[in-house]
Amino acid sequence: MQSCEISSDSTDDPLSSGLHPHRQPRIVVIGAGLAGLAATKFLLENGFTDVTVLEASDHIGGRVKSVHHGGTTLELGATWIHGANGNPVYHLAEENGLLEHTTDGERSVGRISLYAKNGVAHYQTNAGRRIPKDLVEEFSDLYNEVYELTQEFFQNGKPVCAESQNSVGVFTRDVVRKKIMVDPDDSEIIKKLKLSMLQQYLKVESCESSSPSMDEVSLSEFGEWTEIPGAHYVIPEGFMKIVELLAQDIPSHTICLGKPVRHIHWNYSAQHQEVIAKNSDNNHNDNNYGGQSREEPFSLGRPVCVECEDEEWITADHVIVTASLGVLKQNHEAMFSPSLPEDKVLAIERLGISTTNKIFLEFEEPFWSPECNSIQFVWEDEAQLEQLAYPEELWYKKICSFDVLYPPERYGYMLSGWICGQEALYMERCDDETVAEICTDLLRRFTGNPDIPKPRHVLRSSWGSNPYIQGSYSFTRVGSSGADCERLSMPLPYANSTKAPVRNYEMTP
Ligand SMILES: Cc1cc2nc3c(=O)[nH]c(=O)nc-3n(C[C@H](O)[C@H](O)[C@H](O)COP(=O)(O)OP(=O)(O)OC[C@H]3O[C@@H](n4cnc5c(N)ncnc54)[C@H](O)[C@@H]3O)c2cc1C
Repeated sequence: MQSCEISSDSTDDPLSSGLHPHRQPRIVVIGAGLAGLAATKFLLENGFTDVTVLEASDHIGGRVKSVHHGGTTLELGATWIHGANGNPVYHLAEENGLLEHTTDGERSVGRISLYAKNGVAHYQTNAGRRIPKDLVEEFSDLYNEVYELTQEFFQNGKPVCAESQNSVGVFTRDVVRKKIMVDPDDSEIIKKLKLSMLQQYLKVESCESSSPSMDEVSLSEFGEWTEIPGAHYVIPEGFMKIVELLAQDIPSHTICLGKPVRHIHWNYSAQHQEVIAKNSDNNHNDNNYGGQSREEPFSLGRPVCVECEDEEWITADHVIVTASLGVLKQNHEAMFSPSLPEDKVLAIERLGISTTNKIFLEFEEPFWSPECNSIQFVWEDEAQLEQLAYPEELWYKKICSFDVLYPPERYGYMLSGWICGQEALYMERCDDETVAEICTDLLRRFTGNPDIPKPRHVLRSSWGSNPYIQGSYSFTRVGSSGADCERLSMPLPYANSTKAPVRNYEMTP
């Protein structure tokens, strides 16, 4: 564990802060993921020198985790840079030569499977049959047509029928099913296959949005998330390179690893003034505060105090909290004193986050054909299901697909599976051996090939049970909106608060 060296040069002496209104502000950044590192880099570049990053885990990167395996790099977290111009991650990667030198067109891949730039997806049923490519394409067109309709609610301000209907899953299932059922050209068998494919598509969609189910995703807000134009780019050397680039100009003593924050005492200006007044009235300095005799951090003239798990208290002028929505949902009550204002609490409660996990399976030899870029699991017995939620022992039914990692010269014979929601957490509770066996059974069953060997290596993420992450990424749950994200990012105390004035600093102090 690194120690935190808090700057103490004379011009920054916190005790003399009252005499130096333009003293260097001390800023504590909680979290050394992309957001925390980017904020720290920005502050340092703009002349703020008293910045400390407190990171709970023993590494930087947060939800970026590139793992080197057998000469290649696998991403347990972020993988793609979605879009180009205007995407700061893209520009950082491009400027530092991290992207492959191919044309945008070659790098651009489809919406549903981002690995699927070469070859064709194999839609397999649980009876071990492959659904004909033509039928898959016909269904895909129908699904995408309805997907476009889901975008209109936000983009064209189209009202939803009723709040009970304000769900992407409910809407999509309803409209797609009706279209399937009224098609006079399809036999009952084809209709059933299409209905089953619909469920599979909804599973893929919920992995992409990291929601437990598309039934929980708000229809009225779904169209708010537009893609940045450009392709989806992979960084061959690993997304972690972006993290390293952000961190490279941050002095190592600035980042304290293994330093979980327990509590943030904020907005204490009023109490602080009272303490100072009382102390000077009594003409003593015994650090007695609130009736308890202990070291009083607020008497040091900083309005915020960060209490770490190791009992260290760090005073600051500002704190930037970059913990995930999952961490905030779980901990905000215990984490902030005073409690967060109601609008922030409501935003935390309304927005959604769920776990999406990846399962990498490495094989000695490919059992798939060279043109196959993914194996999609279509459960025919799920055609009429209203909800895609499973008991713990059937968690594997939520795995929507395994993508073939491309190119084989880089990845070997590697499949990457996706699972989301509560079932992803059930998977996290299993050991590697169990996951390997269950996934092999699935692949044998859906491909109809009983000879598929067990993979020689399994690697998977476990974002849900990581206490400092608690989920993969957020989504706009029914009842929430993009405005909730904005509410969460607004600085405290609010400018109109009478409790404490907002401090303004020039960017170059
Ligand atoms: C499986 C998966 C796939 C993804 N795919 C993509 C993708 O392809 N493209 C893309 O753009 N994005 C993707 N993302 C999302 C992307 O990874 C995140 O949006 C991004 O990494 C979040 O960065 P952050 O700094 O905001 O949060 P985090 O990375 O969560 O960083 C927050 C940090 O705060 C620390 N922390 C939490 N609590 C405390 C505490 N009490 N005290 C101290 N430290 C604390 C955590 O340990 C963590 O390091 C994916 C995420 C996952 C999980």
